[in-house]
Amino acid sequence: MDCLFCKIIAGDIPSKKVYENEYVYAFLDINPMAPVHILVVPKVHIASADEVSAENSAYVARIFEAIPQIAAEAGLANGYRVITNIGADGCQSVKHLHFHVLGGKQLPDQMA
Ligand code: AMP
Ligand code: ZN
Repeated sequence: MDCLFCKIIAGDIPSKKVYENEYVYAFLDINPMAPVHILVVPKVHIASADEVSAENSAYVARIFEAIPQIAAEAGLANGYRVITNIGADGCQSVKHLHFHVLGGKQLPDQMA
């Protein structure tokens, strides 16, 4: 499958890994929108949050179990934001589920 994040997880495309376990891979965003900008992805191909189901939701749970540890290691004790973009209106550019972890400064108030 021609998926950028599947290739990153497989090590075929380099990334700056910050966390990994059996279910989850996390790496620095190549175009950071905040002082800390980490992408957290499942190690199976799920196209977006719109494709989460009873069959694969354990991966999402594992991601949210990992995020506090990832945030703590990134020094985000003052808070942070977790975002996932979905589809065209959500401006999702990579069609492999990913959660943006953003922080390291006070983020803009507005969500849209
Ligand atoms: P989205 O627009 O929500 O689909 O987010 C995709 C994110 O992937 C963007 O923030 C990009 O900067 C990031 N990105 C694209 N290619 C790479 C890459 N090779 N390594 C790390 N991050 C990437
Ligand atoms: Zn993928």
